[in-house]
Amino acid sequence: MIYFDNVATTKPIKEVLDIYNKVNEECWYNASSSHRAGIKASNLFEKASKLVLKTIKATNKKVIFTSGATEANNMAIYGVCERYKNQNKRIITTKVEHPSVLNCFKDLENYFDVVYLDITSDGIIDLDELKQAINNDTIFISIMWVNNIIGAVNNITEIIKIIKQFPKIKFHIDAVQGIGKIPTNFEIDDVDLLTMSSHKIHGLKGCGMLIMNQKLNLTTFTEGSNQQIIKSGTIDLPSSVACAKALEIAVKKIDEEYFQVLEFKKFLYNELIKIPNIKINGKIENYSPYILNFSYLGVNSETFLHYLEENDIYVSISSACNAKLIKPERTVLALTKDESLAKSSIRISFSSDNTLDEVKILIKK
Ligand code: PMP
Repeated sequence: MIYFDNVATTKPIKEVLDIYNKVNEECWYNASSSHRAGIKASNLFEKASKLVLKTIKATNKKVIFTSGATEANNMAIYGVCERYKNQNKRIITTKVEHPSVLNCFKDLENYFDVVYLDITSDGIIDLDELKQAINNDTIFISIMWVNNIIGAVNNITEIIKIIKQFPKIKFHIDAVQGIGKIPTNFEIDDVDLLTMSSHKIHGLKGCGMLIMNQKLNLTTFTEGSNQQIIKSGTIDLPSSVACAKALEIAVKKIDEEYFQVLEFKKFLYNELIKIPNIKINGKIENYSPYILNFSYLGVNSETFLHYLEENDIYVSISSACNAKLIKPERTVLALTKDESLAKSSIRISFSSDNTLDEVKILIKK
């Protein structure tokens, strides 16, 4: 089997599975219990949080472990916006966010003036459009770091410079396809809220993180015992420790893996451009090396996907989360403004588990 769907999920690594099992076997206690075993669990939880903050070089943040980035994104967006409802406030995002961001904004249209930024032909937001969209009533902005469909990488450093001029605005980054994959060229401390997912970086499914300003108060929607202040429910210690471990390992190997997958992407890119009827949706420069999106004109995405599947090659036609709805792929449409390209787009996403030989087999097929 050749697996090129590493944006959807990655294979968990042994170190992560081992630590998950070890914590389940040796420290399965409730981290909120007052007895010695509970304190041991609580200390381990604290250690996992500290490891995360150290790994991402954050000094003014706290970590909330969640069930994944979907929950973390919802918590960040609703958590900040709830108290500003029906006050004519503006909130800003982009047209190409993951549904766990975009659908929250759609819902909030009932209570806010919502602005959706377009993407340029480079696949990223236009900084001037962002400047123009911000007004004195703007309270929240959410912009993804790396797009999960085409791999375009937003210029977060420049975005931060713009938003910093408006201290009232809280800035959230969906960092799911960036953290542990792309070297961080901005200060995490300059962002108010950042979300990530463990299973995208060889960790386990069902765990993610909301990394947020220590002093930020978010509205919470689950009543309970306030174990993580804004997230109630018994702490999932094995998942949290495993998630911190996955992040630590991913960041340690970031350069090595980056250049490995870049070689795959460049090779594939250079071969695909030779094939008539293939159009690449994106580029190499300023794009994630983990993602290559292309369209095969005249063949719809699903037909293409199943053809490759018959050859034991697994790719994706859009975000796996809504792959059952066959319509023009939203991000490819925003990039190309061409419906036929958006209906025939294929996403190849690499990991360091792939080999150049696998890429060659893909090209042959
Ligand atoms: N944001 C982005 C950019 C993603 O790619 C994904 C996963 N497809 C998510 C959020 C949701 O992550 P999770 O599966 O952890 O809920």
